[in-house]
Amino acid sequence: MALFIAVDVDPELASDSAASRKLAEVCPVDIFKVSSSGALEVIEKNLDECTLCELCLAVGKPGQVAVRKLYDDSARLERRA
Ligand code: SF4
Repeated sequence: MALFIAVDVDPELASDSAASRKLAEVCPVDIFKVSSSGALEVIEKNLDECTLCELCLAVGKPGQVAVRKLYDDSARLERRA
């Protein structure tokens, strides 16, 4: 279970296979994966490897992907515009 990081992905974005593939492509520590059925998976065991690079925040519309710092009162990183 992740102790430090959580990610939130808007269900609409998660159901978009192109966006899901993009998430899997940009994350340097393999937190996102596209399953064989095309569904987005968040790899729980990798969450705490997040480097806070913010590359995933650029996928989709502003706010559709958020990284939450559980160690900092769940402070939310998301793209604003
Ligand atoms: S901030 Fe970077 S390392 Fe963290 S989930 Fe997003 S793409 Fe992956």
